[in-house]
Amino acid sequence: MRTTLLLLLLVGLGSTPCAAVEPPAWKAGVASVVITPKTNMWMAGYASRTNTSQGKFHDLHAKALVLEDAHGTRMVMVTLDLIGVPQALRHALERRAREQWKLAPEHLLLNASHTHSGPEFRVGRLPGWPDFQPSPLSDQYGAQLEAQLAKLIGDALKALAPARVSYASARCGFAMNRRLPTPTGYANSPNPEGPVDHAVPVLRVDDPAGKLRAVVFGYACHNTTLALYKFCGDYAGFAQQTLEAAHPGVTALFMAGCGGDQNPYPRGTVELAEHHGRTLALAVEAALLPKPTPLTGKLKGAYATVNLDYATPPSREEFARRAQSKDRYEAQHARHMLARIERDGALPASYPCPVQVLRLGKELTLIALGGETVVDYSLRLKKELAGAGAAVWVAGYSNDVMGYIPSTRVLLEGGYEAGGAMRYSATHPGPWSATLETRLIGRIHELHDQLRRD
Ligand SMILES: [Zn+2]
Repeated sequence: MRTTLLLLLLVGLGSTPCAAVEPPAWKAGVASVVITPKTNMWMAGYASRTNTSQGKFHDLHAKALVLEDAHGTRMVMVTLDLIGVPQALRHALERRAREQWKLAPEHLLLNASHTHSGPEFRVGRLPGWPDFQPSPLSDQYGAQLEAQLAKLIGDALKALAPARVSYASARCGFAMNRRLPTPTGYANSPNPEGPVDHAVPVLRVDDPAGKLRAVVFGYACHNTTLALYKFCGDYAGFAQQTLEAAHPGVTALFMAGCGGDQNPYPRGTVELAEHHGRTLALAVEAALLPKPTPLTGKLKGAYATVNLDYATPPSREEFARRAQSKDRYEAQHARHMLARIERDGALPASYPCPVQVLRLGKELTLIALGGETVVDYSLRLKKELAGAGAAVWVAGYSNDVMGYIPSTRVLLEGGYEAGGAMRYSATHPGPWSATLETRLIGRIHELHDQLRRD
């Protein structure tokens, strides 16, 4: 036994001068599936819609990339042209991935593009239905999606083949801060002076001969150029489509960043969505030009949920008063909360928000945050983790998109992302407590340190 090992070592050493033909240490597999609803249904993202969808501009996709390091550790990234990832979907896929492929939850990343031109399939979020009642169509879609995603992951695993994996980045400028200070508070309006994150991180996967097979690219901007009645991936869908048309055979996957307070401007037409998509695709092309940084070493992941406290919710009397409000969203939210108090005795005090840290070799750290994180999170994490020697990619809209995750700054400033949006949700009794940024960032640092020690 020992002799064989020694012999193997010697053979291995003997082969080092020919390192130029060394096989790649990685394996990668990619798969894609159309997830456009087959029938028209309520669309997600704008509570003011009054009708169901009427056809499509193009198909919505779910895509999976599986990476395997030299030690056989696997990581699966799934990207979705959808509004978000419901908690129940995350739990179901986690369970399936563990049972079917022995994949650890920390090695599964689900990210939604947050297109507002996809189907509404989240429990309790149907604007056109009274008091957040689910519709049979949305339930059916959700169940079908879960099955499709499980098959998708299986397909990507079957496609595993030797690959070279590297990192690059570029910049793209159409995202603008959308929190404009006015004398009466923060308005949802372009604010050219507000913080932005214009980075376009790119993970590229090539075959051993150097032929491009897949690109994953990120951007921190609401996927809301459009507010129409046709299914569409919005700018992120057009960016993926443009890249796949320019590189036949390549799969392009979009990963939404911390764009909770960022909008694409100008907006409103399908031409503008296409234009922004092409602009972002060009930024990805620019990132592909210089020599990328090859990723070397192990895949490692850490995953946790952070219990984010709500600020003290309104009293039963206050909800009863709001239930009579002329604002139908406020009234609907209050009625729902009163019914929950009746049913459960009390409203929940906190919500478990997922955070995930992935090391893709020594050169890249990918942080995936739950909810609609505002841009402060990516700017802060990139600054604070810069000293660790790896590029830092921060994704939002990952693993459970339960609502906005404001920073302390945004929470104190007030406005839509600070808590105004909570009344559109059946989940949250009201705004978060101001402890959320400290808790989330603290936990991410712990996970990050843990991976560096392992
Ligand atoms: Zn949003």
